[in-house]
Amino acid sequence: MIDQETIDTIKNTVDLKLLVESKGIKLKKNGKGYFALCPFHHDTNPSLSVTPSKNEWHCFGCDKGGDVIRFVELYDGVNFREAVNRLTGSHDKKKIGRLRPVKQSSSNSDTPNVQQYLERLVTIYENNFIQKDKGKAYLTDRNIVDESLFTYHHVGFCDGTLNDILPQNGSIRDALKEMGILFEDGSERFINSVVFPVYDPDGHVITLYGRHIGPSSNKKHLFLPEKPTGLWNGNIIKTSPEIILTESVIDALSVQMAGFSNVISIQGTNGLTDREIMDLKIYGVQKIILLLEY
Ligand code: ZN
Repeated sequence: MIDQETIDTIKNTVDLKLLVESKGIKLKKNGKGYFALCPFHHDTNPSLSVTPSKNEWHCFGCDKGGDVIRFVELYDGVNFREAVNRLTGSHDKKKIGRLRPVKQSSSNSDTPNVQQYLERLVTIYENNFIQKDKGKAYLTDRNIVDESLFTYHHVGFCDGTLNDILPQNGSIRDALKEMGILFEDGSERFINSVVFPVYDPDGHVITLYGRHIGPSSNKKHLFLPEKPTGLWNGNIIKTSPEIILTESVIDALSVQMAGFSNVISIQGTNGLTDREIMDLKIYGVQKIILLLEY
């Protein structure tokens, strides 16, 4: 049972504007409030309104709205209790920032870290996915058609246009090359791929996985070099003692389409390392159903 005082404290002290921004959503000032592209429906004209004086939000497109807790429920795809858990102890700006740090592009004080770059890329690729049909067409072909899954998992598409929005030279390109997002010649690793961010169980993006959909001569499964592949949909292990384990993200999505949310993907048979096994142990997973091809 969550007491009313905890709920009120969260509602009154967690800054909604910072929370929304911490998810990588760009807010534009408009009068006394802010507007943004709504993450809960296919939004092309910013219709999500954030009102700081009330610490509430509302979307004029899909009519969703509410307080900070409701936002986390919908955005993170968790129930009320878990949303409260995630926001408890996050009452100050710094902690909210640490939940899902995204650096504002207008600020150029210090260099973003790898995770902040990943957060930004997730947003860029996700916008591509929403705006262009190619990624969605591929998933439709695989019978993965539930829009809410795309939103929940921040599914993206890399159409190779990252170069258009990057400065020609400088530290950002260098950092992206170091991470393996860009090759030395400046082309994108994930070009023509559906891109899936992989989060750790606490919701921090740790890497990206790309499913190449182009000519079959190319590699189908794309990973960032020198990064653990992690457990896709890994946050489920915090709440579900019984999980289904698949080899690929597409398989896991198919399982979710069939109505089972408690599924993780290890991303290739080499993807289950000591690190992932440790996570499964720490969070008390008791039963694992293997759904692997052999
Ligand atoms: Zn909306």
